[in-house]
Amino acid sequence: MTALPSFVSPAIESSGARFSSPESGAPFSVLVVEDQAVMRAALVTELHQAGVTQVLEAENGRSALALFRSERPDLVLLDIRLPGEDGYWVARQLREAEPGEWTPIIFLSGLDNDLDVWRGIEAGGDDYLVKPVKPIVLVAKLRAMRRLLDMRRRLVTVSAELHLANQKLNEMVELDALTGLVNRRGLDRMLHAEISAARREGKPLTLMLCDLDHFKRFNDTYGHIQGDECLRQVGRLLREVCVRPRDIAARYGGEEFALVLPNTPRSGSMTFARALGQMLKLLKIRPAGSDEEILLTLWRHHHLHPR
Ligand SMILES: [Mg+2]
Repeated sequence: MTALPSFVSPAIESSGARFSSPESGAPFSVLVVEDQAVMRAALVTELHQAGVTQVLEAENGRSALALFRSERPDLVLLDIRLPGEDGYWVARQLREAEPGEWTPIIFLSGLDNDLDVWRGIEAGGDDYLVKPVKPIVLVAKLRAMRRLLDMRRRLVTVSAELHLANQKLNEMVELDALTGLVNRRGLDRMLHAEISAARREGKPLTLMLCDLDHFKRFNDTYGHIQGDECLRQVGRLLREVCVRPRDIAARYGGEEFALVLPNTPRSGSMTFARALGQMLKLLKIRPAGSDEEILLTLWRHHHLHPR
């Protein structure tokens, strides 16, 4: 049994101050990384008394890291002087183990050493406590960190919601309301991206433009409601034939459509065009009470063959 260094208080006196009231609800867990059993036990006792729901204990850096990864505590109390890897190393590992996340780290420093504090913050720590730890200070720091943590979590939630709303808005702005196909704005952006990708990957890209024969006469004869229904049917068909995740079916203009087919050589696109023509014939798009069928004509074919 070796004697404890003189700066370690054999026990910390309880303050009776509570970190959170039992009715405040949300559980809170703290990982204590401290190699000296007496100091660790005192901290654990104080944390329990302060109302921390779960206290995890580690006596060296390696087991601290393992516990952190498996249990994801809400806060870490981290001794600087540890056998083997020191607290600075542990702090850096913890930060690397949670990209995009943030768990508060409070260093435990044996001496009131300014350099320790500096190095601790550099290594990714958020605050420090001088041993022997005064319970009232410990509880105050826990409360401050928890407040920051709660604020950050609210911010993350709001940011995620904003991101989703933005995505939804972008989709709405790039979709044609009548057919549900990508509109011209969306086509411009996606085509641009696919051309770059085709060049980068050295893969062929096909762009097919097509329109509906005599659509204006059709609209004049049978009315816009019938015309719109016809466009919707064509839209459904084009969506169905664009089965690969990166295929794009777009409504380019009034009765003009565009298909972007990545990684499709000329031969493949001819087969595709023939199949599309067949399907359209089978669909027999025609106004109610009429025999007049409407035909989709492929009028331009572009191929990009990057070398
Ligand atoms: Mg130590």
